[in-house]
Parts: sequence; structure tokens; C-alpha cells
Amino acid sequence: MAIESPDRMTRWRCSRCGNLTRFDVLRSRRAKEYWHFDLGGEVSVEDQEVLHDDIEEVRCRWCGATDTVEIVPRAGDAE
Ligand SMILES: [Zn+2]
Repeated sequence: MAIESPDRMTRWRCSRCGNLTRFDVLRSRRAKEYWHFDLGGEVSVEDQEVLHDDIEEVRCRWCGATDTVEIVPRAGDAE
């Protein structure tokens, strides 16, 4: 089950306890990256194409519940 990510206008809220700020996110992500090594062997990722990005589970850090996360508007958007 994919869970919708918050965007610029929205945020997550735990509908059970009201937590807005702390969540454990289990995320499955597949990406193609361009790794550029310098002569010393340090790598920097210079380009990245995300092929797949799914949030599989969000657990509330306060009450430990899963499947209680809802999308709500960010404060101020209603004004
Ligand atoms: Zn909660």
C-alpha cells in the first residue's frame, strides 16, 4: 500500500494522537546514479534519476500506530 507524501501545501498528521512532527518512515527507493570518484577515491553522486520511490509504512513516533497517518493542510494555508 503506497502512502501519499506531503507536499508544499500539506503535511502528515496521526489521526490517533495528533502527532504532526515525528514519524518512522519505511521507504523503498530505486535510483540510477552517476558516481564520480576523485583521484583519492572519494565519491560524489553528481546525478540521480529516481526510478521508483514508495513509502510503504509510516509509524507514529508518539503512539506507535501505523495506518493512522492522514494528509492535512499546513498551518496558514486556510487563511
Ligand atoms: Zn500517533
